Amino acid sequence: QSFENFKLNTQLLNAIKEIGYTKPTPIQEKAIPLALSGHDILGIAQTGTGKTAAYLLPLLYKVKYAQGEHPRALILAPTRELVMQIEADIMGLGKYTDLRFVCLYGGLGPKPQIEKVAQGADIIIATPGRFMDLYKKEVLYTRDIKTMILDEADKMLDMGFLPQIRAILEIIPVKRQNLLFSATFSERIERLSHEFLEFPERVEI
Ligand code: AMP
Repeated sequence: QSFENFKLNTQLLNAIKEIGYTKPTPIQEKAIPLALSGHDILGIAQTGTGKTAAYLLPLLYKVKYAQGEHPRALILAPTRELVMQIEADIMGLGKYTDLRFVCLYGGLGPKPQIEKVAQGADIIIATPGRFMDLYKKEVLYTRDIKTMILDEADKMLDMGFLPQIRAILEIIPVKRQNLLFSATFSERIERLSHEFLEFPERVEI
C-alpha cells in the first residue's frame, strides 16, 4: 500500500513525503479509505500506531473541500498536551493547505484563545471543558461543524468528561461524521459509541 492509493490531494501527499512517511501504518490503511467515504469510525488504536494521521488526513482533505467561514471540524482530546501534539501534526500534514485552526485548553486565561477564534478557524482542537467554557461565553459558532473526532476517548471518560461531551453533542449539528479513537475497548466505550456513532465501521490493529 502507498499513500498515493488514497483519494487525497497533492498538497497532502507532498506534506506526507516531506515529513518522511513512506507507507501507511496498518490503522491508516484501514481507517483512511473508510473515513474518506464518509463512514463513522470506532478506532481502537494506541498512541504510536499512527492513529492521529489516520483521522487527520481524511479530515484535512474534507475540510479543504468544504470551504466556509466558520469552524467545520472539532477534535476533542483529554489534555492540553494531546491538543498541542495534534496541533503539531496538523501543522505538518496541513502545511500546504491554507486551513486555519485554533487550540482551546485550560490552564491559562481564555482571552488569547477568544481572539484567535475571532480571527477565524476551520478546525477546532479542544479539551471538552474549555470548549464548553468558551461556548457559554458565546464566542464559538458551532452550526457548521460537520466532523467530530474524539481522540483518546477512554482517557476522556477516565477524566470525567462525559457530561461535557454530551453537552457538546447537543450544540453541534446532528448530521455529521463522527470518529472515535480509544486505546482500549470497554463497556463504557461501547456505550459511548452507541450514543455518538451511527453505523460505525470498527477498525482495530
Ligand atoms: P500517533 O499514534 O498518532 O501518536 O503517531 C505515532 C508516531 O508515528 C508519530 O510520531 C507520527 O509522526 C508517526 N507516524 C504516523 N504515521 C506514520 C507513517 N505512515 N509512517 C511513519 N511514521 C508515522
